[in-house]
Amino acid sequence: MFSKIKKAYQLFKSVDFEQLDKLSRKVDLPKVMDSFSKLDDKQLKGLMKMMDGGRPKAEVPPINGDFYELHLRLNEEDRALQLKVRDFMEREIRPLVNHYWLRDEFPFEIIPKLAELNICGLTYEGYGCAGRSSLMEGIIAMEIARIDASVATFFGVQSGLAMGSIYLCGSDAQKQEWLPAMQQMKLIGAFGLTEPEVGSGVAGGLTVTARETEHGWVLNGQKKWIGNATFADVTVIWAKDLGDGQVKGFLVRKGTPGFEVEKIKGKMALRIVQNGLITMTDCMVPESDRLQHAHSFKDTAKVLQLTRAGVAWMAVGCARGAYENALDYTCKRKQFGRPIASFQLIQNHLVEMLSNLTAMQTLVYRLSELQDAGMLKDEHASLAKVFCTLRTRDIVSQAREVMGGNGILLEYDVARFLADAEAIYSYEGTKEINSLIVGRSITGFSAFV
Ligand SMILES: Cc1cc2nc3c(=O)[nH]c(=O)nc-3n(C[C@H](O)[C@H](O)[C@H](O)COP(=O)(O)OP(=O)(O)OC[C@H]3O[C@@H](n4cnc5c(N)ncnc54)[C@H](O)[C@@H]3O)c2cc1C
Repeated sequence: MFSKIKKAYQLFKSVDFEQLDKLSRKVDLPKVMDSFSKLDDKQLKGLMKMMDGGRPKAEVPPINGDFYELHLRLNEEDRALQLKVRDFMEREIRPLVNHYWLRDEFPFEIIPKLAELNICGLTYEGYGCAGRSSLMEGIIAMEIARIDASVATFFGVQSGLAMGSIYLCGSDAQKQEWLPAMQQMKLIGAFGLTEPEVGSGVAGGLTVTARETEHGWVLNGQKKWIGNATFADVTVIWAKDLGDGQVKGFLVRKGTPGFEVEKIKGKMALRIVQNGLITMTDCMVPESDRLQHAHSFKDTAKVLQLTRAGVAWMAVGCARGAYENALDYTCKRKQFGRPIASFQLIQNHLVEMLSNLTAMQTLVYRLSELQDAGMLKDEHASLAKVFCTLRTRDIVSQAREVMGGNGILLEYDVARFLADAEAIYSYEGTKEINSLIVGRSITGFSAFV
């Protein structure tokens, strides 16, 4: 008798009490209890099996956004670096990003810690840089963005746009002066191309002017959206030379008279990134600070080609972070007494997200292989940027959807990915502009204007 009551008690423990409450309104529970006490062991076991649907308890598999195990293509050293960056991001960055994102502030304390990873300017040869593969650089961008797209953007501006401009267009003296300190993140850079009235149309003509005088160059005009500009030690300014009409690059040092930076406030995406509106009023830059190998917009475009590939990887990271968060959430969140991940319609969302994510990852792996083989063309980078940022928008939106109301709460992280995906979608060439680059390549017709 005692063992029967014990078994019946265990049976009740496994019962959903909300359901039981509903049941008690429909049936006479004392009578049911009495019937239970009369059941033999076999009957009790059968009843328990019936009540939990006869299903064995599902083991939740580890969360893994790399479904096709692309990491297996990395050698041991590269894989170790990937995991080191992942661990750093989980430990040091994840706990603080929402705090800074909400306040629209930059966590300066992370700069020396990021520097210690020794990943800045990863692909460049010399000047303290590691000379490693573009694939590895892409993987690092993905790992950073998997936790936070703002930190990835800050890092991309420093390591890609700013250092890349100096690496590709600077003289050896300029490289010696800036690159080693920037590699160690002792000096921070910014990249000023976009203007208040000239965004997508930068190739068609900048309005910031550079006039050569016997004392150097005089810069006038405004730049908008410039990441890191509010605190950068050096800002690369792209301006139209009034002499020959070509675009030239200038290294403008922090504190130069006539160089004012105003922080852009009220962003709803990438809030940690400090974007500046720069106003240059008769800002004097010596000839020694003109990028010596930047002769036209074609040289600016070389920098953008490199970094556009990085933005595609960043989109993958943002999407992966959102997917992994959403998968984890759906396995833990219960409705109707079951994890929502066990519902068919939720699994459909998860699989759609994973399909897109897997396609994006395989695409950027190949993109980086082309880059490492010296075969990367503008249209390759543009196609990846278009595809990955478009699919990222789908993934973050589905991630938010499967999280219900909590999907819009910052503390669940996916809301931040959802907002940040919007900025990644627009910067470094919008979908339309990158599509026009690919369109021109496959048809032979330029449809810009
Ligand atoms: C968060 C953030 C960070 C940024 N960081 C930097 C930075 O560090 N440095 C920097 O220089 N810039 C930066 N940018 C600027 C960014 O590169 C531009 O926002 C982007 O190039 C688009 O320009 P725009 O915003 O002026 O849009 P617009 O050029 O005004 O475009 C508006 C719309 O018109 C479409 N459009 C334009 N021309 C055509 C056409 N020919 N055919 C079809 N459609 C067209 C566009 O695709 C877009 O949908 C940043 C932007 C953001 C949002």
